[in-house]
Formats: sequence, structure tokens, C-alpha cells
Amino acid sequence: MTALLDAALGYAARGIPAYPVHWPRPIPGETSLACSCPRGPACDRPAKHPFLRHGVRDATTDPDQIGHWWRRWPQANVGLATGVVFDALDIDGPAGLAALHQLAGTVSLRLAGPLVATGGGGWHHWFAPTGLGNRPPRDLAHVDWRGRGDCVLAPPSRHISGGSYRWLVGLDQAPLPEVPAALRVRLDPDPPTTTRPARPAGPDLPGHPYGRAVLAAELAVLGRATAGQRNHTLNRTAFKVYRYVASGVLDDEEVTLAFTTAGLAIGLSAAETSRTLASARTAGLANPRTVPAPPDPSRQEVRA
Ligand SMILES: [Zn+2]
Repeated sequence: MTALLDAALGYAARGIPAYPVHWPRPIPGETSLACSCPRGPACDRPAKHPFLRHGVRDATTDPDQIGHWWRRWPQANVGLATGVVFDALDIDGPAGLAALHQLAGTVSLRLAGPLVATGGGGWHHWFAPTGLGNRPPRDLAHVDWRGRGDCVLAPPSRHISGGSYRWLVGLDQAPLPEVPAALRVRLDPDPPTTTRPARPAGPDLPGHPYGRAVLAAELAVLGRATAGQRNHTLNRTAFKVYRYVASGVLDDEEVTLAFTTAGLAIGLSAAETSRTLASARTAGLANPRTVPAPPDPSRQEVRA
């Protein structure tokens, strides 16, 4: 597990304070993972809470201290203090993407810069620090801002689901951008005094829960696509989801919004994204798929 130590040292070398976080460990005889803390499978923040008592306040850029920690706990996840070298926009899965897309439809919102796919199916956009603390941006549900005093997990930390945090756009590939003005204004403590129409609390995606779970899972697969596979993965994942649109399980427009935003977030061009989605949509709509029926007890009896 030197990858975690190397990564922590790399962040520290960039001036980003790092600290050890609990990690997912196998449960003997089971396929699922449990938190490495004493609460194990009962932990309510598995593999996401600090290993040391003071948490992010223990974070350091001292290579000796980092070496000491990760040699002692080689599997520890890598927590990073935000608000020092970078802030992060924390997008909590498809609902967060949909909210951002809604905003991007009305204002200029270019999210260029380092981008992490979280192990749990969300995304972290990294920005130059704003000096602000952590706060949810106004009018954006399922999206958070990690600033001064807060923290994020960083690649190659592992999620309790078995997925890993990974770079979609690395720190060497793009400089830390300033926060787009349209987003920055939503982070300021004092809301503008202009009246605005009341909006619903969040863009909850319509559709059957099964369909929404399929959408979330496929978006997570797309988020993990490697560089040469992004367009192909967009086509494959969107096709699967459009099959549920064809049977009325999911909403056409919401699915298109989510995949468009996800495509752009992983670095595909707008043209590529729209071309691939159009083709996946045509194929998916021609092959409807419905929610699996619950097991039929009479058939089970026959089989038994
Ligand atoms: Zn725990």
C-alpha cells in the first residue's frame, strides 16, 4: 500500500496538508467491506472519518510525520485539508450533477480544472482557495463547498463500496482555476437582496427508484472511465439507462441532462457528448427494458 503513502507525500510536497483517515477492510467470510474503526460494520461514516483524534487539525505537510503515519497504518485513506491550497466543489452523484446542469443552463459555468471521481459515485472539482469556509451553495441541492477548515478524501483512497477515488483530470493536467463568478456568488454569506422566485429545495430526479438506482450506478461507471474509454463508456452506460426511459421508468430529459453533464465533467467535448448521447438514446429507446418483477412464489415452488 505504498501508493497511499506516495500520494500523501505528493500532496504534502504541493503544500497540501494530509492526514490519515479510516479505511475499508474486508469482513471475513463476506463480500462487503467494513470500516477499520472499532465500530466496524456498524460505523455510520465508514472509511471517511479521521484515524487520529484531532482529525483535519492533525493534517501536516511534514514528510517525516506523513511517513511515520503511513508506515504505521499503510492502508489509511488520505484526507486532505481544504482551504489551504485548494477548495473543492463536492457533487453528490447524479442529483448534484442535475442541479449544476440546471444552473449551467442559465449562466456561464465552465468547470475546468482538476477533477476527482469519488469512490462513491460523486465528483470533486478542485479550485483555487476562496478563503470561505464550508457551506452549501445557495440554490444548489446535493452540492457542497469544502473550504477553510474542511477536508476531502483524495485519490487513491478507497470507498466502503469497494470503489476508489481517482483522478479524471490530474493536478499536472490543469491549473487550479478561480471559482466561476456564477458559483462564487452562491457561496457568499449575504444573499443578494434581489427577489427571486421560490424554487423547490432540490431537483429530485423523477422516476421509479429502481430506475434511479440504475442511473446512479451507470453514472458512477462513467465517472470511473479511463482516458481512452470515455466516449465508449458514455455510449454503453447511456444506452443501458435509455432502455428504462423507453419503458417510462425514467424521464428522458433528466437522463439526458445527467449524462450531458457527466460527459462534460469527465472531459468529453460538448460535440462528442451530444453525438454519442443521441446515438445511445436512439438505440436505447428501441430496446425498452422494464423493472424486474419481484420473485413469483408459485414459480419458486415449482423449481423447488
Ligand atoms: Zn468507522
